[in-house]
Amino acid sequence: MIKAQNVVKTFDGHRALDGLNITVPKGAIYGLVGPNGAGKSTIIRHLAGIYRQDSGEVMIDGEKVFENPALKGRIAYIPDDLYFFLQANIRDMMRFYRGVYPNFSMERYNKLRDVFELDEKRSMRHLSKGMQKQAAFWLAMSCCPDVLILDEPVDGLDPVMRRQVWSLVMGEVTERGTTVLVSSHNLRELEDVCDHVGIIHKGKTVLEHSLSELQDNIVKVQIVYPEGGDLPENLNVLHEAQSGRVRTVIIRGTMDEVETALKASNPVFYDMIPLTLEEIFIYEMGGAAYEIKDVIL
Ligand code: ADP
Ligand code: MG
Repeated sequence: MIKAQNVVKTFDGHRALDGLNITVPKGAIYGLVGPNGAGKSTIIRHLAGIYRQDSGEVMIDGEKVFENPALKGRIAYIPDDLYFFLQANIRDMMRFYRGVYPNFSMERYNKLRDVFELDEKRSMRHLSKGMQKQAAFWLAMSCCPDVLILDEPVDGLDPVMRRQVWSLVMGEVTERGTTVLVSSHNLRELEDVCDHVGIIHKGKTVLEHSLSELQDNIVKVQIVYPEGGDLPENLNVLHEAQSGRVRTVIIRGTMDEVETALKASNPVFYDMIPLTLEEIFIYEMGGAAYEIKDVIL
């Protein structure tokens, strides 16, 4: 489990993290979302043990991360700005990783060779940015980490490789129960992948939920009433729009609760429609969402 509590980090008087809280349960794929400059890379560098916070706590599996090499040997981190020994090729990097990560698996490394189709003997600096990202994945997955931390991992990858990478990450979670934290400035990018989402803005956590929690508690309905009919009064309506006689209504509550109430109000027709993560985000956050909505959707 990853837990950051009340983390403050100041750079030259500017609070990049301003009391940030995040909790990532074991085995979760947690999407950390926020506009550019929100503090994603900064909190991630704390989780990877690179930065030390001014105050607050940064813990993984109940242990402090900073200056904890044993713990770091179980964490794989792919930074947004990749750093390799530039003269090195993938094989050299593999030897280096194998020395540092106790769980490193040669078997996996060999298997993944077929997935990435990169030339192991070409020096890193002669690979394109996208190829370097792939190399970073290859190496990180070969470490068999318990915790995988990815900072904007699919930036610069083509759509086929994106899908490949996500499928590897999801497979890892299913097979080994790895805990994954992945950042993005784009909520849609993570929608199909994550089961938890945290939204941060200006160094603070704005919202943090499991997707099922979010999805089980909000319903979208299209409904048509006969002349004089109306929605029952006891519903918690978050938003409503009308097109002809069809009303589209966002209601807080579980599917069952809402459906029971609606049936009792005798509509001519109704249909329950699943919400996208983006819609949930907008309705859940109400007015507060507008400031950040445009930049992360
Ligand atoms: P994100 O990854 O969400 O785009 P960052 O965590 O990189 O955001 O940055 C958060 C804020 O902290 C920004 O205002 C950025 O300019 C500042 N910042 C990040 N790292 C440094 C640093 N090493 N020195 C000074 N300012 C920094
Ligand atoms: Mg960043």
